[in-house]
Amino acid sequence: MASTKPCKNKVQDKVAIVTGGASGIGEATVLAFAENGARAVVIADIQDEKGQKLAESIGTNRSTYIHCDVTDENQVKSLVESTVQLYGHLDVIFCNAGIASFGKQNVLDFDLDSSDKLFAVNVRGTAACLKLAARAMVDGGVKGSVICTSSAAATLAGDKSTDYIMSKSGVLALMKCASYQLGEHGIRVNCVSPGPVATPLACNKAFEMGVEEVERFFQSSYYLKGVLKTKHIADAVLFLASDDSEFVTGQNLIVDGGFNFLGIPK
Ligand code: NAD
Repeated sequence: MASTKPCKNKVQDKVAIVTGGASGIGEATVLAFAENGARAVVIADIQDEKGQKLAESIGTNRSTYIHCDVTDENQVKSLVESTVQLYGHLDVIFCNAGIASFGKQNVLDFDLDSSDKLFAVNVRGTAACLKLAARAMVDGGVKGSVICTSSAAATLAGDKSTDYIMSKSGVLALMKCASYQLGEHGIRVNCVSPGPVATPLACNKAFEMGVEEVERFFQSSYYLKGVLKTKHIADAVLFLASDDSEFVTGQNLIVDGGFNFLGIPK
């Protein structure tokens, strides 16, 4: 009879990269991968001190921090090459680094230069990571898993953050094309789309509120009782990274507790 025990080692022996891994959703996912048997988790970020500390907390034999600005393709190339050099191959990449809009970005007051900077991280950066990781998987004959962070906001309307919403729709489009193109190599590509989670990005930039305020503000908006936490997103990423989802590709897994909004609150 099949065991019904929950498996603790969902990514046993896998080598994974997490971009934006020093904070928030990325950090929670790094820890989830480490707790679930990953052979190595490479933390890629621009926050060197935080990333370094996180790697040390896991153990330098199983985790490495690599400075990588995802807007620079050469840095992404070097991140992927170093990972393969250190650990032999690459099984999983979580393309998660992202930023929120600079200012309100209502269409009537749209700062296109700021929007270019945001697209450089959220769209170009995600595409560079996906491209170079997939190339390493194809070259290494690895049937890997790529997970990109979009957003529950990607398909909503908003009074502000127009460029952010556009960028996250772009990530969904990238995921769809890549899953179609990489299927023949056995590489799966999916998105995770978080609802509002009280990370530094959400608190300091998107909503300009403290952690408790953000959590209280959105609490009544979920179908489910409770508060959306980074761990809920990390668990979904873990599923998409693991062999539990071995025939799942081209999907957008929205993790928002059932979010009761037609538009993002003003
Ligand atoms: P966060 O600010 O805690 O983490 C983002 C990380 O990305 C930071 O460590 C930051 O240093 C890193 N980063 C930023 N620019 C980078 C660059 N150029 N190169 C490499 N790393 C860079 O925020 P978070 O909420 O955990 O965000 C993670 C992802 O989740 C983002 O893509 C964000 O858009 C998405 N998201 C967040 C929410 C939310 O409510 N928090 C909702 C939906 C989607």
